[in-house]
Amino acid sequence: MYGWVIPPPKEPTKTRQELEAERIAKVNYLIREGILKSERIIQALLRVPREDFIPRQYRDYAYMEVPLPLPGEGATISCPHSYPLFYEPLGLDKGHKFLEIGLGSGYGAAVAREVVGPDGLVVAIEIDAITFAFAEDNLKRAGYRDVVLINKDGSLGYPELQPFDRISITAACSTVPPPLIEQLATGGKLISPVIKNDVQNLVLSEKTTSGIKQRIICEVLYIPLRGIYGATPKR
Ligand code: SAH
Repeated sequence: MYGWVIPPPKEPTKTRQELEAERIAKVNYLIREGILKSERIIQALLRVPREDFIPRQYRDYAYMEVPLPLPGEGATISCPHSYPLFYEPLGLDKGHKFLEIGLGSGYGAAVAREVVGPDGLVVAIEIDAITFAFAEDNLKRAGYRDVVLINKDGSLGYPELQPFDRISITAACSTVPPPLIEQLATGGKLISPVIKNDVQNLVLSEKTTSGIKQRIICEVLYIPLRGIYGATPKR
């Protein structure tokens, strides 16, 4: 396992133009690295200003490959590469009804909103009230007013709007929470870090008519999922 070195907080100095240039450079880097492939995900990453989802004192680091701290208990915005790392194998596409567990900054939900387009729907759940308020404000200011935002334990999913075509859990679980498998459509896919022997694997689960098929994608490092079906059970 490895850790991350978070750069020191500071007053932001970069201009919009500088940050936009960094965004384009980052997208090109992710394409070169083979992590980012689909045109719809490329366009979504180009459209969403990641700097608008980051606390002011870390804004200049928006395009660095580090997770950055968010208001709330232990929440972080994930590294830039983790969004295509999750959304490419998930095959997130136009028209999907998408559920995100672990709203964090709201950035992942905004990118997903761009990918699923006007015929799709994004529902995002955050357990921490302070983190939730931060994300809600970010999304509003960035113009994403039609993402369904829920402040509760996402390990229970959101049965009111099931079934979901795609589900992403951006926190590490011991096993994929059963209610989320339940709320996945047949033919649907779910991606999540799953802890096994102190290592976290990013696991893609597919719900087929003959059961759940799982495939490990790579090792990752995420904060533990809280809640009833979390890695650290706590209400
Ligand atoms: N996707 C986020 C990053 C998420 S970090 C982004 O794009 O910024 C993981 C988040 O999961 C944290 O905000 C944490 O509070 C939240 N979380 C942890 N357990 C949860 C649970 N059971 N339900 C909902 N959110 C949870």
